[in-house]
Amino acid sequence: MPISTTLKFENIEFLALEGKFMVKCSKCSERAVIRLRYARLNLCKKHFIEFIENRFIKLSMKNKLFEKVGKALVAVSGGKDSVTLLHLMSKAAEYFGFEIHGLTIDLGIGHDYSRKSIEASLKNFEMLKIPYTIFSLKKHYGFTIDDIASYGREAGIKKPVCSVCGTIKRYIMNKVALDVNADVIVTGHNLDDIVQYVLSSVYSGRIEDIVRLSLKTPTRGKLIGRAKPLAYFSEKETLTYVILKKLPFNYDVCPYYRPRSFHEKIKKISNELEETVPGSKITLIRSFLEKIQPALEAKYSFSTWKLRECKLCGMPTTGEICSFCKIRLAMENIVKR
Ligand SMILES: [Zn+2]
Ligand SMILES: [Zn+2]
Repeated sequence: MPISTTLKFENIEFLALEGKFMVKCSKCSERAVIRLRYARLNLCKKHFIEFIENRFIKLSMKNKLFEKVGKALVAVSGGKDSVTLLHLMSKAAEYFGFEIHGLTIDLGIGHDYSRKSIEASLKNFEMLKIPYTIFSLKKHYGFTIDDIASYGREAGIKKPVCSVCGTIKRYIMNKVALDVNADVIVTGHNLDDIVQYVLSSVYSGRIEDIVRLSLKTPTRGKLIGRAKPLAYFSEKETLTYVILKKLPFNYDVCPYYRPRSFHEKIKKISNELEETVPGSKITLIRSFLEKIQPALEAKYSFSTWKLRECKLCGMPTTGEICSFCKIRLAMENIVKR
């Protein structure tokens, strides 16, 4: 097992591993395997899985995430969060009565990172019998994320690889959602991702980024709406879910991921706060999503920005040429040489 996973395991209070004494499940007489302090529960394997699945349905209902949804496109990278998302979405699809379609993008990352991601995603799609699309960046556009990392600067792409990769993923998700007639795109951002994003955006005053962050955005013309149904689930919960259900997932960290020390500190501080005040992360994100974001949205109303169609590809954009086409053009010149 790689170091990254071993480290992540240390964050989990697997009661069974402590071995000092037996803690009983709060709902039955079995041995508890996890302590969820925010919910004041110790749960056995069966009751943990049941708790997560029920909570997903309840939160989706409360936040009206799948109202009027006929088909949802589920973006799956093959990591713990998106694999959990796919399995929970499959339950929600059954419960609410909508269809789902899986999407995995072959970004062409690293020696075997993308290969492992696709392998894990495929296994989960097949296990759940979910129709899916594997979209290859190389096959469609002739370049990979590795190419951007190697030649991007030379091609005039100034943004860091991760931010370019984010633009590419959003574009492809929207394109595939239009192709398969999906009403919503769901992604696996978890509570910890969102806490880090909110705190760092507030710190640096990036209002535009803050306003964009919401649990769900509506569809506007060809720009398909998004939903983040894992926003109230911590990474401890998604990791425990995939491990207890023995689901295949890629536990490697993307080779382009660079932990920024400031972000790491925010993570550490929010984890410390959670230790002393269980549930503080959920409270922070709930206040943000339900009160602060709507107030900012009303003031700045970025969502009413006029969208037009990209001159080159026809996809929605605020400028003349969309940011994906700019990347594609820059890379074409390099690849052609
Ligand atoms: Zn139990
Ligand atoms: Zn375009």
